[in-house]
Amino acid sequence: MDSKQRAAEITALLEKYNYEYYVLDNPSVSDAEYDRLMQELIMLENEHPELRSPLSPTQRVGGMVQDSFKKVRHQRSMLSLANAFNEEDLRAFDKRVRDIIGGDKVTYMAEMKIDGLGMSLVYNKRLLYAATRGDGVEGEDVTANVITIKSIPSHINLEGDFEIRGEVYMPKKSLEKLNAIQEEKGEKLFANARNAAAGSIRNLDTSIAASRGLEAFWYYFVNAKDFGIRYHSEALNMADKLGFRTNPERRLCDGIDEVIKYIDEYTEKRSSLPYDIDGIVIKVDDMNLYDKLGYTAKTPRWAIAYKFPPEEVITKLTDIIFTVGRTGKITPNAVLEPVRVAGSVVQRATLHNEDFIAEKGLMIGDYVIIRKAGDVIPEVVRPVESRRSGLEQPFHMITNCPVCGSPLIRKDAMHFCLNPNCDARKIESIIHFSSKDAMDIEGLGEKVAEEFFAEGFFHNIVGIYRLFEHRDEIINLEGWKEKSIDNLLQAIEKSKENSLERVLFGLGIKEVGEKMAKTLSRKYQNIDNLMAASEEELLEIPDVGPILAKSLVTWFANEKNIELVNELKEIGVNFEYKGSTTKAANSYFSGKTVVLTGTLSSYGRKEATNKLEDLGAKVTSSVSKATDVVIAGVEAGSKLDKAHALGITVLNEEEFLELLK
Ligand code: NAD
Repeated sequence: MDSKQRAAEITALLEKYNYEYYVLDNPSVSDAEYDRLMQELIMLENEHPELRSPLSPTQRVGGMVQDSFKKVRHQRSMLSLANAFNEEDLRAFDKRVRDIIGGDKVTYMAEMKIDGLGMSLVYNKRLLYAATRGDGVEGEDVTANVITIKSIPSHINLEGDFEIRGEVYMPKKSLEKLNAIQEEKGEKLFANARNAAAGSIRNLDTSIAASRGLEAFWYYFVNAKDFGIRYHSEALNMADKLGFRTNPERRLCDGIDEVIKYIDEYTEKRSSLPYDIDGIVIKVDDMNLYDKLGYTAKTPRWAIAYKFPPEEVITKLTDIIFTVGRTGKITPNAVLEPVRVAGSVVQRATLHNEDFIAEKGLMIGDYVIIRKAGDVIPEVVRPVESRRSGLEQPFHMITNCPVCGSPLIRKDAMHFCLNPNCDARKIESIIHFSSKDAMDIEGLGEKVAEEFFAEGFFHNIVGIYRLFEHRDEIINLEGWKEKSIDNLLQAIEKSKENSLERVLFGLGIKEVGEKMAKTLSRKYQNIDNLMAASEEELLEIPDVGPILAKSLVTWFANEKNIELVNELKEIGVNFEYKGSTTKAANSYFSGKTVVLTGTLSSYGRKEATNKLEDLGAKVTSSVSKATDVVIAGVEAGSKLDKAHALGITVLNEEEFLELLK
């Protein structure tokens, strides 16, 4: 792959990760992985300056503005920070600063880099508004949520316009509490304090932000000069006096050597702080130098963020236990002495399969290195062999299902329980059926499903719809009230109306994921048509391969499955596709391959994708010769350039909306 292709590939990935991180508050990769790609792109652009465009992720603040909030234009751009990953980067920064301003030692302020959500507060005696950073130029007005943080003053004793910036964050204790509640409810845990804070603030329901124990530190008094203040350290002291929480760990450092010592000190101390930090920010203290040092489009040249390497910790592997998935797959899991890593407490980690354990050479009782790989997923990196005492026990893969006792079958590296009546598989099917992307039955998460199964209230999917028969018994269970069970029963009833694709995905047919369920529903309109489709016919659908076609035909050939579908039909579950097909058939987008780029003001990316797919379009993420149409929102990036280069039809938002009609 040549440099141009690689740059385009990284750009597409970074755009995707930005969207997940800034809009969905739900990243799929670790910050370290994101930073690694960004560094690679910076290097490529340094080597080939012709690849650098003003739209490159290296040149733009990564955030985006959600439509659901009122937009606020920042009086002065809210920028990002350049990164340093080691001592060499820090010394290079110091040299650049000294080359511009002269002198052999600069006074820097070193501060905690709080892992939260950047925020601007604008006052004129009283708080006028609070805004997120957004794309740096425009942010989201989140005042209603921010004022639920009690330490933020609603009024200040100062005449004139005043802007202060800082970070709203979730203290470690609040995150632990929140995740304990999530776990209790059987809902997804928050990946880390940053995403939990951002998700709470960027929520339209203010009671959410109010209940989440958020806090804030303020670190930049934007118009300090208007008040005759010259030094950043002085500005922070004044902010303190005005009643803003500033971070007490900050320290003025005389020259870069002192900064490096400070960083070493806090690399040790960081885990004992009551909040998460992901680095140390270093700022030139004399604000009179800021204009001279200048700005890039994305970052000021008078500051830099030192980023800590990904956190790894050591803990003891006390046991290896087994879980059984919906498909009967057996997964060995590490039971760990609880340990805090990258913002949350870890006590379990998947060990995938027998071969994974053998390759790592893990023994029960070993001390192991744990790392967070992307999202919430903790990973066992390797054992610390030097800490072995001789009492460690070798691992042996089990030969029978830990739940039903049936002999296991090995396929490739994995083991399976093939007993369709295995309780574990039944519970997992129920959990999958009711999950958010399937039937979306709120209140029927993992914990509740397990409890009801154990109580004998249901033993399969059909039983979900007969749960009302156990209403009185459920009310008598601990933690249940009339209201909670009635809400759940209502959610169950409502799920009957879902469109075909949800129930199809919920049935858990091998290879039929969420997207495929949609494709099939659109094509066949109802389950009877799909059931009647032959393998050959299915194979004619783009994206359907032989494995999937076979899996579908085999599933529908099984009488038990037909019985299940019939029982669900009798109960009143809908098996018709509710997306409009006549609309799709007549639509401009029908059968076209479409790429979305830039930000649309009317729809979020997922929403626009759903609309297009409902009209029969195939939405893909990168532009190629196979693309028919590119829809370009504001600040469309390299995809737009590529579309022009390939002569592909480009629609702006207005044209897109017109065609949607
Ligand atoms: P950044 O996190 O590297 O630094 C800038 C931000 O630091 C500022 O906007 C401010 O909000 C914050 N900050 C905290 N304490 C501060 C202090 N004392 N002084 C000044 N600023 C302080 O840059 P960014 O543009 O906000 O985000 C980029 C980073 O976010 C990436 O390097 C990556 O780590 C992460 N990210 C991850 C993903 C992912 O998918 N995992 C995606 C996008 C971004």
